[in-house]
Amino acid sequence: MMRYSYLTLFSIILISSLFSNEIIKCSYCSKKIEGEYYYLDNKKYHENCYKDNIIPKCSFCRKSLTGRYMVNEDGQYHNDCYKNHILPKCSVCTKPLEKEYNYDAWGNKYHSYHSYGKGNCSSCSRIISERTTGGGLTHFDGRSVCNICLKDIVDTEYKIEKSRKRVLSLLGELGFENLPIDVPVSLKNRNELRILMPENPMVSGLTNSSYSYTEDYYGNIIEEKSEYEIFILDKLPEIDFDSILAHEYLHVWLYMNKLDYSSQITEGFCNLAKAQVYKKILDEHSLIQLSKMDDDPDPNYGHGYRIMNQCMDYYGWEKLIKLFKNNQAHYCY
Ligand SMILES: [Zn+2]
Ligand SMILES: [Zn+2]
Ligand SMILES: [Zn+2]
Ligand SMILES: [Zn+2]
Ligand SMILES: [Zn+2]
Repeated sequence: MMRYSYLTLFSIILISSLFSNEIIKCSYCSKKIEGEYYYLDNKKYHENCYKDNIIPKCSFCRKSLTGRYMVNEDGQYHNDCYKNHILPKCSVCTKPLEKEYNYDAWGNKYHSYHSYGKGNCSSCSRIISERTTGGGLTHFDGRSVCNICLKDIVDTEYKIEKSRKRVLSLLGELGFENLPIDVPVSLKNRNELRILMPENPMVSGLTNSSYSYTEDYYGNIIEEKSEYEIFILDKLPEIDFDSILAHEYLHVWLYMNKLDYSSQITEGFCNLAKAQVYKKILDEHSLIQLSKMDDDPDPNYGHGYRIMNQCMDYYGWEKLIKLFKNNQAHYCY
């Protein structure tokens, strides 16, 4: 945030010394002053000494400052010099930013009124505009998506399968084996996900599990069947889609191993896989998503994740997976 101060130039009086008997010396050059002089802060100056050396200069154009001017930590400026050369420029409209302004995670600074249009991208959080993102769209479920993110959204069966491959290979490296490759994955918009999960309207993914069995004549279970289904928010760029799919696949793993932990442990644990996707790519987008997770105030997705993350740092994946399988995830607390 910048500081605004207006200063009025010190009052300067041009005084004639002609009728004074007193010898007047210039406070700048120490020589005698005859005739008119400048008087400022109890000091007297030759006109030229004053104009060349005492009068404050603009820190931008180096010319003398007169009248009202701007002062900040770094210097003093003509109002126009300050406005046109010192003030930060809006990333959306390039006009100077005065007073309060907004900024996004990518360092774009912008007038707050630009937020009233499409606003920020729901995936990458950039302010959407021609200059910052090459435009974007508002999805009919209300989300805005920028054109940078739209370039590689997962929107076809083929892209879903490619994502599944990447995610299963990553989870395999971490030690999650035998995850089913045939779990149906389908795309849902925000409204559809909300209907499927009204208690948690902002989730980006959901895993359903159904269990059925067949009994024989005597009541013995002769066949058990578990089925899973994954739903993921549509219009997500690849990396975000991968991260959600990795999260959902850990739900599948928990179901498969019949592990029924609290929401905080469960979502925190599944979010470890989400974070792992970003940690593997570690570009700016990933760093921003990871810091969003670090700051998430949600008791499960945020706090639960941070507890699990510490636990994973402490035990490592192999031991953590063992703890979970042995119903000992409470060791993480
Ligand atoms: Zn002088
Ligand atoms: Zn200037
Ligand atoms: Zn602007
Ligand atoms: Zn975006
Ligand atoms: Zn979850």
